[in-house]
Amino acid sequence: MSDNFDVVIIGGGPGGYVAAIRAAQLGLNVACVEMRGALGGTCLNVGCMPSKALLHASELYEEAHQGMAQFGIKTGKVSIDIKELMASKDETVKGLTDGVAFLLKKNKVEYIEGRGSIQAKGSVKVDLNDGGERTLTAKNIIIATGSDVAQLPGIEIDEKQVVSSTGALSLAKTPKHLVVIGGGVIGLELGSVWKRLGAEVTVIEYMDRITPEMDGEVSKTFARILKKQGFKFKLKSKVTAVKKTKTAAIVTVEPAAGGDAEEIKCDVVLVSVGRRPYTTGLGLEEAGVKLNDRGQVEIDDHFRTNVDGIYAIGDVVRGAMLAHKAEDEGVAVAEIIAGFAGHVNYDAIPGVIYTMPEVASVGKTEEQLKDAGTAYAVGKFPFTANSRAKANRQTDGFVKLLSCATSDKVLGAHIIGADAGNMIAELALAVEKGLTAEDIAYTSHAHPTETEAVREAAMATDGRAIHM
Ligand SMILES: Cc1cc2nc3c(=O)[nH]c(=O)nc-3n(C[C@H](O)[C@H](O)[C@H](O)COP(=O)(O)OP(=O)(O)OC[C@H]3O[C@@H](n4cnc5c(N)ncnc54)[C@H](O)[C@@H]3O)c2cc1C
Repeated sequence: MSDNFDVVIIGGGPGGYVAAIRAAQLGLNVACVEMRGALGGTCLNVGCMPSKALLHASELYEEAHQGMAQFGIKTGKVSIDIKELMASKDETVKGLTDGVAFLLKKNKVEYIEGRGSIQAKGSVKVDLNDGGERTLTAKNIIIATGSDVAQLPGIEIDEKQVVSSTGALSLAKTPKHLVVIGGGVIGLELGSVWKRLGAEVTVIEYMDRITPEMDGEVSKTFARILKKQGFKFKLKSKVTAVKKTKTAAIVTVEPAAGGDAEEIKCDVVLVSVGRRPYTTGLGLEEAGVKLNDRGQVEIDDHFRTNVDGIYAIGDVVRGAMLAHKAEDEGVAVAEIIAGFAGHVNYDAIPGVIYTMPEVASVGKTEEQLKDAGTAYAVGKFPFTANSRAKANRQTDGFVKLLSCATSDKVLGAHIIGADAGNMIAELALAVEKGLTAEDIAYTSHAHPTETEAVREAAMATDGRAIHM
């Protein structure tokens, strides 16, 4: 077993393991160091995948409970066993993380279980999970250590009464009342899970709307639909304290602009105010690797840190904290190290919220185009006018396409609808490849599918939608 590698990657999440596989495909000798005891990072262990497993199961439960009757399906009394639900989610996670270990092995990447720290340029020490240590020499080091839960000052997360997303993925029973601090993607997804399973859910958001970075029209529709589902929102509000008693948590909330405080009693509080880059114990200071003022590893356009031979990707660097962004950067950095021209187009990275309906977007919002003074056309098509959505009784939402008023290129697309997460792929390709609204309008879309709404929205940019 050699300790000399072309590339040593610290972190086995979607950024790290994908970089490892791509570098190995390109003929490099690669090690991937991961301390968690399982590969796949936040995404597979405590992020994307367990949350999607719970979202899917809770959606089935809700459908069986109250959605199927409209089609004449009689289900009788439907109940949920939370222990079995969690076991099923854990089985999904285990299958996926084992799958990544298989892929590393298949590609001859050495998976080293332990905590890595950079000793100096070209040298990584690993404190092995099984005890002892190894010192690796590396022509190139990739930092892919991801992120961790951001905390609120003075509010201690105990993962029982006051939980982070990690605790919210493993609650032993459905809370009667869940207070979610933060109206962003993670809070709304996990809020949806527990709402469907029977909790009352109150979301407290500092800004004047939920998911504040989203296209304004979509965000407004999204909030309206979630309210119809029973979500309660307290906007322009800040949580200043959480007091715990034996049986409850008391959340103190004040108007963001200041004013009288009120107390909300609940049994579980979910703190979902974002994530912070994870660089603890990495030895960055000793190695002279610079961080920016947000605590992210500072990189240039080629993922290079200020220290020669040390690169960084994923949640630990600037940009959207998304698994596919980390994966794209993993491929690009491996290709750069191997001497190719790796590149990521940050304008074409889609974002999805996996609630029901889903919300998906790519490219610019209408507000961003207005701010930039770009002349644009809008094409909108509602799912109430889409035959498949009507047959499925999933008519909430619309497709909104923004194209350049002069070149007709697709600049942004925003979908709120049952299958928005899958539908956005076509529009991400359009943004990536500089396609026009007309290109989409003249592409045949299978009938009956919700994707026809994408085509109709493209047609609507110059007023020729057929079914509206
Ligand atoms: C609840 C939740 C839901 C999410 N849902 C989605 C979603 O639906 N879609 C999406 O795109 N994104 C989602 N995300 C975000 C996504 O999980 C992250 O963007 C993604 O995991 C980032 O990948 P990464 O490789 O940069 O870091 P990570 O996945 O965080 O992996 C970093 C790994 O590095 C390891 N590590 C850290 N320091 C060391 C060290 N010194 N030595 C060894 N190992 C180390 C950590 O243990 C970790 O396993 C979600 C996140 C959460 C929390």
